[in-house]
Amino acid sequence: MKQTVVYPGSFDPVTNGHLDIIKRAAQIFDQVIVAVFKNPQKTPLFSMEERVELLKKATEDMDNVFIDSFTGLTIDYVKSKKAIAIIRGLRAISDFEGEFQMALLNKELSEDVETIFFMTDIRYTYLSSSVVKEVAQFGGNIDHLVPEAVKKALEKKYFPG
Ligand code: ADP
Repeated sequence: MKQTVVYPGSFDPVTNGHLDIIKRAAQIFDQVIVAVFKNPQKTPLFSMEERVELLKKATEDMDNVFIDSFTGLTIDYVKSKKAIAIIRGLRAISDFEGEFQMALLNKELSEDVETIFFMTDIRYTYLSSSVVKEVAQFGGNIDHLVPEAVKKALEKKYFPG
């Protein structure tokens, strides 16, 4: 049976840090579904459709990576896809507490779905969607932080016309 994993996140927008996790997961598992979720605690800069579109462009050369979106409980989505695990990335200690809590909660909700963590690549330890947005809105250089399509989309948001 094919081993499918789900990498859920806000991806507002996708960064090179996310892409590194996606590539590494795609080398290990048969199928990686990157799923954009609606986080009620965050007001996104990019709409769900825009985030999906940017992810599709950034992963178009990866044959076993699929982009989707969902609302509701991550665990329900994961089960609906018959995935064996949830993929998450860990940067600094600050990521740990929230991720730990979520992983335990998901285990409580569904015994048979694991959460698998990938340590960030050292180059992306400091990188987050929020940092990218902060730099981009003041016209800073984000070339090495995001794929080209994301750079263009950010310029359009912050400097239209
Ligand atoms: P969320 O709202 O779920 O935190 P994000 O899009 O911010 O969504 O992140 C999705 C996942 O990717 C999280 O597990 C996060 O820790 C991880 N992640 C984000 N940026 C990086 C990075 N630079 N390196 C490794 N993992 C990352």
